Amino acid sequence: MMPVYLDYNATTPVDPRVVEAMLPHLESRFGNPSSAHPYGQQAKQALDAARAQIARLIGSAPGEIVFTGCATEANNLALLGVARALGARKRHLITDAAEHPSVLNPLLRLRDEGFELTILPVDGTGGVNPDDVASRMRPDTALVSIMHANNETGTTQPIAEIAAIAHAQGALMHSDASQSAGKIPVDVDCLGVDLLTLAGHKFYAPKGVGALYVRRATPIVSPMAGADQEGGLRPGTESVPLIVGMGVAASLAKKSLPEEGIRLRTLRGLLHSRIADGVPGLMLNGSGQSTLPNTLNISFPGITGWRLLETAQSVAASTGSACHASGHSGSPVLIAMGLSPERLSGAVRLSLGRYTTEHEIERAADGLVTAWRTLARP
Ligand code: PLP
Repeated sequence: MMPVYLDYNATTPVDPRVVEAMLPHLESRFGNPSSAHPYGQQAKQALDAARAQIARLIGSAPGEIVFTGCATEANNLALLGVARALGARKRHLITDAAEHPSVLNPLLRLRDEGFELTILPVDGTGGVNPDDVASRMRPDTALVSIMHANNETGTTQPIAEIAAIAHAQGALMHSDASQSAGKIPVDVDCLGVDLLTLAGHKFYAPKGVGALYVRRATPIVSPMAGADQEGGLRPGTESVPLIVGMGVAASLAKKSLPEEGIRLRTLRGLLHSRIADGVPGLMLNGSGQSTLPNTLNISFPGITGWRLLETAQSVAASTGSACHASGHSGSPVLIAMGLSPERLSGAVRLSLGRYTTEHEIERAADGLVTAWRTLARP
């Protein structure tokens, strides 16, 4: 019997409706969307339809969507692209310490190349204080990049407030919405962002496709050179089947958004209370309020998170970001939140999704409590 999958923030299964929509584009509809003949035009129409579906999910115009190979690539395009466009005049960039490596590392690379980088602290819940952004803005700040929701804790950031601060000083605003899109409402105008990153495989599309929203007239120069696909921002023949899948996944996510949020919040509450009943001293990491409905990051006392997950064979989850799964050094996000060493090492991230059932929650909670008892009281 497979373990209960509680790692939806690492990746989601592909929705069967997405697979069905993709299949013709892996078979008869194989044209190159840049070709003028009917095969190409059929592929181009599929791309246009997917672009419109993604745009509807985030309240943008279809022409403001650039398809990429993944969210990492979208983040790189946003950060390196704006730096390339504005770098002659504006050399200062702002981010925070809890960002995903696909934001932090391109920014650190820009710092190595001579840009000045401010990395803001986060508070004990993982939140960025907009006053900190305001106090570090400079006339030469090109870009502020703060994620919409954290992949490890689910903590959401006050993006609209931060974007207003950035814009008041003439800077651009980017947000990595890889974890929030499809889970909570994401509207580029309400958030006030100029650039926004999306990841298909976090909302039931396949891995290997992402998108960058680029507000019209945003100064950006692609770090890649090639032909003029995706407005020249992401040269290379588009992966039509994957993009079609991402478009359909976006429409499905939009349709189910409010009810699914309520359902997941209820299931997460059940999971938390059942584990807390069996584990005295269990600690919640992140924000109780400003959070994704599907994410529960908790610290088990007296044990290490990775040993717990190794022992609890009925649960497939992680101690933090999938990108750090091979090491046991402690999550940089939780370190940035200032957690005590014991709380840090006992942390586990449980993330729920579309196929999580109440029965699974009960089985997972029982498995985790039993494993904790085995390890904590040998
Ligand atoms: N940004 C966030 C917040 C993520 O959680 C992830 C994936 O875990 C990414 C970016 C990168 O996504 P990908 O590996 O698909 O490029």
